Amino acid sequence: MKQILIATHNKGKLAEFALMLEPFGIAVLSAEALALPEPDETASSFAGNAQLKAIAAAKASGMPALADDSGISIAALDNAPGIFSARYAAGDYPAAFARIIAAAEQRNDWRARFTCALCLAQPDGTTATYIGHADGLISKTPSGAEGFGYDPIFMPLGYDRTYAELGAGVKDKISHRARAFEQLTANF
Ligand code: IMP
Repeated sequence: MKQILIATHNKGKLAEFALMLEPFGIAVLSAEALALPEPDETASSFAGNAQLKAIAAAKASGMPALADDSGISIAALDNAPGIFSARYAAGDYPAAFARIIAAAEQRNDWRARFTCALCLAQPDGTTATYIGHADGLISKTPSGAEGFGYDPIFMPLGYDRTYAELGAGVKDKISHRARAFEQLTANF
């Protein structure tokens, strides 16, 4: 069985990656389990941040490393927080949901988009990067208990339930991460 290091300390993302890689006979190891440091996300794009995390983990471990950088862009916030999604919530997601819903209400614009940049880096520093998007609407009321982050307020287009209500069975087929992942695994 092949092994890929997942360059994330986010347990929600690690669980999604493990499920998505399982059908390919690939086992995942986490950067956290290897106690690898998390580099600062200093790039100005999702792709740039995914690349710097993957390259740092591949070089430190001597293994192929997969990193993602992802986030939500809210139309009513002029596409913020984007690459700053984790920092925008600052650990208090209910408060972030309230700010987002207030902005969407004020502009009567409920559109949102998740983006995921995935980068697979080799220990020699070569990289391949893939981008996936998921468009949707902000839910007027946060709902659902599955998933992580902004899942309780994001309803993907074509559904009247949030990622957190739909759960992994649906989310992992249609999400921004799944779409980037399809491009990655097309080359496996
Ligand atoms: P990153 O770890 O710097 O890529 O931060 C991504 C942040 O974007 C996460 O901490 C979440 O706040 C948010 N995010 C990214 N993907 C998802 C998702 O699939 N569901 C909910 N929130 C997400």
